[in-house]
Amino acid sequence: MTMNIRVAHLYGDLMNTYGDIGNILTLRYYAQQIGVEVTDQIISLEDDFRADDFDFAVFGGGQDFEQMVVAKDLPNKKAEIIKFIEQNKPLIAVCGGYQMLGKYYVDASGRKLPGISAMNHYTEQQHENRFIGDIEIQNEVTGQKYHGFENHQGITFLGDDEHALGNVLKGYGNNGEDHTEGAVHKNTIGTYFHGPIMARNGNFSIHMMFEALQNKYPDYDFTDLKTKVKPESY
Ligand code: GLN
Repeated sequence: MTMNIRVAHLYGDLMNTYGDIGNILTLRYYAQQIGVEVTDQIISLEDDFRADDFDFAVFGGGQDFEQMVVAKDLPNKKAEIIKFIEQNKPLIAVCGGYQMLGKYYVDASGRKLPGISAMNHYTEQQHENRFIGDIEIQNEVTGQKYHGFENHQGITFLGDDEHALGNVLKGYGNNGEDHTEGAVHKNTIGTYFHGPIMARNGNFSIHMMFEALQNKYPDYDFTDLKTKVKPESY
């Protein structure tokens, strides 16, 4: 049996800041090492998104203009995106994508764009400032350190039911105040990490790949395959 992972690249033609598509390339890179096929498809404006058609999703970052365009289309996909998330399928949402999964995003001009409230964080405006630079965090659960690059004006505050992807060791993270970075809900990861996060953090990528596979093939024992893939980090 050849296993495969079907990736939805949400608004990949509009939301792809700093090569967030590299998350998909990285997934394919590790999947090839264990003979798993990865297919991907951009799901953009006016396209149907059906949760059952995909096993993994990437929603990249974007400029405020693109976010405004995407915000108008998102209500059409809201129910299926929430279904996808609640089915425990991995979704990597970066920066602008992360903001849009939450309650709202206030852009640099003060315009409030509604999110889809798939997660309970919200994003306020920073006044004439951006958080730009390299970032390093530590994941509380695994102790692993993740590296990336952030560039955002929005400042994000987590909902009560969300926990952070990690504690900020270097850089700003969600809001520059509470030392949190990113948000985790089921297998959905919101993060400010470009770089992209999966290319730079092999442990994280491999973990997310096996989450997708275990979810899709619940009866398969992945113990052996897990020993065949080695994480690379930059
Ligand atoms: N436009 C958003 C902000 O400035 C997201 C930026 C990004 O995706 N890099 O906060």
